[in-house]
Amino acid sequence: MRTENSADLFERARAVIPGGVNSPVRAFASVGGTPRFVARGEGATLVDADGNRYVDLVNSWGPLLFGHARQEVLAAAEAAMRLGSSFGAPTEGEVRLAEAIIDAVPSIEKVRLVNSGTEAGMSAVRLARGATGRAKLLKFVGHYHGHADALLVAAGSGVATLGIPGSPGVTAGAAADTILAPWNDRDAVTAVVAEYGGDLAAILVEPVPANMNLVPPAAGFLGFLREQADACGAVLVFDEVITGFRLARGGAQEREGVRPDITVLGKVVGGGFPLAAFGGPAELMDHLAPDGPVYQAGTLSGNPVAVAAGLAQLELLDASVYECLEGATRIVADGFAAAFRAAGVTAQVTRHGTLAGVVFAAAAPQRFEDVAAADHAAYARFFHGMLERGVYLAPSGYEIVFTSLALDTDALDRVVTAAHEAAEVVAAGRTG
Ligand SMILES: *Cc1c(COP(=O)(O)O)cnc(C)c1O
Repeated sequence: MRTENSADLFERARAVIPGGVNSPVRAFASVGGTPRFVARGEGATLVDADGNRYVDLVNSWGPLLFGHARQEVLAAAEAAMRLGSSFGAPTEGEVRLAEAIIDAVPSIEKVRLVNSGTEAGMSAVRLARGATGRAKLLKFVGHYHGHADALLVAAGSGVATLGIPGSPGVTAGAAADTILAPWNDRDAVTAVVAEYGGDLAAILVEPVPANMNLVPPAAGFLGFLREQADACGAVLVFDEVITGFRLARGGAQEREGVRPDITVLGKVVGGGFPLAAFGGPAELMDHLAPDGPVYQAGTLSGNPVAVAAGLAQLELLDASVYECLEGATRIVADGFAAAFRAAGVTAQVTRHGTLAGVVFAAAAPQRFEDVAAADHAAYARFFHGMLERGVYLAPSGYEIVFTSLALDTDALDRVVTAAHEAAEVVAAGRTG
C-alpha cells in the first residue's frame, strides 16, 4: 500500500503542529506506522491522500451515524451557511434542535448547546456544583469526560493510550475534588458515598463506557448509581457523548432504563460539526445564567451551520435506524469473533447493542485495569492487518468500533474477510 503522500504530510504536520495532529490518538502512537491523512469520505468509505480506500469503522469517533457526506446533512449545512455563518444572536434552528433533543432524550426538559463534548462535560460539572453548593465529584477509573482539568484524572481514551495518569498542567487543586472508583464496583461506590456523600456534587459516569474499550455496566449497576446519588443528594450525570443517539435515539438512559439528572451530549448530536449539549430538568438547568447565577457562555454556541447539520441528522432517526445499525455491528462483531476463533487467537469481542469492542485478553474486561493489561501489541497487529486490507479501525486498543448505516453488504463482507486474514496476522505474530 502506497503511503508516500500521508508520510509527507505527516512530516510537514510534525513541523508545525505538536505531534503532527490536533488530537493525540490520531498520530497512531500506540499502533505505530504512518497516520493516514484523509482526503475525503464517501458513505462507508474513507479515501486517503494516496488514494487508498478504507471501509471506515471510526466514523469520526462516532458522530457519523449515516457515514460520510450524507446528502441531507450536507444540504442542511450548506443552506444554513448561505444565510450567514454565525450571528451571536439566537436563531430558530437552536429552538428546533433543542426541541428535537428533548423529544428524544427522556430526562431532558431544557438543554444548552455548546461546541464540544469537553465543554459540555465541564459545564455540566459547574452546573452540578453550582446547584448543590458542593465541590466533590465521583468519577470512574478509565471513563473519559473530555480534557477539562477536574475530569482528566484516570481518564480513558487518548490519556490511557498514551499512559498519562491525568496530565502535567493539571494542578493538584483542580484534581483534589475528583474522587475515583473502579467501574462496576458497588463496594467502592458505597465507601465513597459513605465518606464524602455530603460533599458530593456529582456522580459522573459514561453509562456504557466506551473510552476504555467497551466495558458495559454490570446488571443493575446504573440503577445502583441512581440510588446512591439520590441517597446523598448528588447530581447523577450521564456522559452520553458516545451513547447519545448512537446506542438508541434516547441514548443509554432509554436503553438501560435509568434516568440521570444531567445528560451530556456530543458527537452524533452535531452531525459531524462542532456541536455538543448538556441538559436536564428545567429546575436544574434554570440555575444557569441568565436565569440563574451559574455562568456559562460561548461566542459560537448554537452555531447555525452546526445546528442545521445536527438537526438534519436527528431528523433521520427512527427505530429502524437502530435495528440496522445493530445488525451491522453484530455482523462486524460476530465476524471478528469467528475470525479470532478460526485463527486460534485469544480475544474478547464485546458487543452492547450498536457498540462493539475488541480486546486481546483471556476474559471479557470488567474494569480499566483489565483493558490496560490486555495485549496491545496484538491490537496493533490486528489494526495494521486490517488497514493493509482496506479497513480503518480506531488506532488504539482503548477505543471501540463505530459502525454506520452506510455499511452495505459489500462493505461488511470486506470487513469480515479482512478480519479473517488479519487474525492470521495476529496469530503469526506478524505486523502486516
Ligand atoms: C469524545 C468524548 C468526550 C469529549 O468530547 P470532545 O468533543 O472530544 O471534546 C467526552 N465524553 C465522552 C464519553 C466522549 O467519548
